[in-house]
Amino acid sequence: MLTHLLPEFKIIRDDERCIRCEVCVRQCGFDVHSYDAEEDMLYADENKCVGCQRCAVMCPTNALTIKPHDYEYRPNANWSKEHIRDLNKQAETGGVILTGSGNDKPYRIYWDHLVLNASQVTNPSIDPLREPMELRTYLGRKPDKVEFDNNQVKVDMPAQVMIETPIIFSALSYGAISYQAWKALLEAADEGGTLCNTGEGGWPHELRPGKTRVIAQCASGRFGVDLDYLNSASIVEIKIGQGAKPGIGGHLPGEKVSADVSRTRMIPEGTDAISPAPQHDIYSIEDLSMLIYALKEATHYEKPISVKISAVHNAPAIASGMVRAGADIIALDGLRGGTGAAPKIIRDNVGIPIELALAAVDQRLRNEGIRNQASILVAGGFRNSGDITKAIALGADAVYVGTAALVAMGCTLCQKCYTGICNWGICTQDPYLSKRLNPEIAKRRLVNLIRGWSLEIKEMLGGMGINALESLRGNRLHLRAIGLDQWELDVLGVRGAGD
Ligand code: SF4
Ligand code: SF4
Repeated sequence: MLTHLLPEFKIIRDDERCIRCEVCVRQCGFDVHSYDAEEDMLYADENKCVGCQRCAVMCPTNALTIKPHDYEYRPNANWSKEHIRDLNKQAETGGVILTGSGNDKPYRIYWDHLVLNASQVTNPSIDPLREPMELRTYLGRKPDKVEFDNNQVKVDMPAQVMIETPIIFSALSYGAISYQAWKALLEAADEGGTLCNTGEGGWPHELRPGKTRVIAQCASGRFGVDLDYLNSASIVEIKIGQGAKPGIGGHLPGEKVSADVSRTRMIPEGTDAISPAPQHDIYSIEDLSMLIYALKEATHYEKPISVKISAVHNAPAIASGMVRAGADIIALDGLRGGTGAAPKIIRDNVGIPIELALAAVDQRLRNEGIRNQASILVAGGFRNSGDITKAIALGADAVYVGTAALVAMGCTLCQKCYTGICNWGICTQDPYLSKRLNPEIAKRRLVNLIRGWSLEIKEMLGGMGINALESLRGNRLHLRAIGLDQWELDVLGVRGAGD
């Protein structure tokens, strides 16, 4: 069938600069470039290019430029280029359009409409270079009251996990990402005093000794879940939903289930790993409570149990039920959350922004007097330390970063993770491609990112005259909004700038 799809990217090769080294031919896993020895010419099949920029970055003479193609249909306010393109794809394949990475639609990003406070004259600011600033955070249920006995604090403290910074690596499962990328995240979490999350792909056995800074996910497929897995982690997380694809399950194609992935996930090699949409033993809050307590029993009540949901319309009521069911941590994943593979139509149309979900959940738990019974983790498109600091002021205990971590390792957001071909070696099980990612270098970049953002958070705290993150948590007086409607201010619980 003749394709009606035009190329998305234009490849411009500067012949003056090109030295025919064929690096581009070897670097492109999508087989875009080819070399004709007879003519001593390099050609490019633009139809296959996904715009990952790998060839341009690796070209030793900077001879390549990859740009979005400038073809245009007749302008039509109803039918955008993307609508026509997607429709044609489906007319040609009859399938669901898949995508990777997070939502790229221009939905309002509330972080860009919120500004932080700074001290002036009264309550002077603090210089973080000269005075200690505390970012240390404890995750888990906090006691309802503190009793004193002969000046000694008597507290029956539920399980807590300490992190040195409120930045945690999101659920990125081995299988969806390469072994090298997974190892880099694990080691960066260890060195950075934070946590990484197994996602639903299990935890390779040889990477367990000496490493505990891990959140072990128990998802609907239960891949790789056994007692050793649960007890090796610091936190166990029940995954109900994911921001990029609320309400649906997951699918890791058989081609990505290599021998090692199959061992880790405890499924046969080469078979599709299907995560059902629901957890098949959870149909009510009571069912959820049974699983929470089963996991607490299995881990001797030594680990906080987190429950992760997509940010959806009635998230506050659901979160309240989760806390009452025994969850020690509520993890909320907003509509800009990333993914290895999701139907594009779900990613772009289902769920709500994390900013609104966070504010509403935090407020609901406060109103019900149960906010101290669970920590709140939030995820969904955090781009810098400013977003994170605002999230803490809105009520988050800590923030999950996934896409940002991938970008730190080299990802260029080409959105082709679901193909199994990632030219940057991150989202692939192809040994030729995955070896491109050096775990040591990737780890260093991740640790640098966390360090840089943590320093910036300290600077912002100091500017507000605060010396501990705890004093900012849920303190919305340190936020003001710009350009939002009254209903948005009401949900966020934030006043307009100048008020
Ligand atoms: S897919 Fe990536 S590596 Fe291949 S031609 Fe396009 S930009 Fe270059
Ligand atoms: S992880 Fe790889 S395939 Fe996925 S968006 Fe990033 S560069 Fe593209």
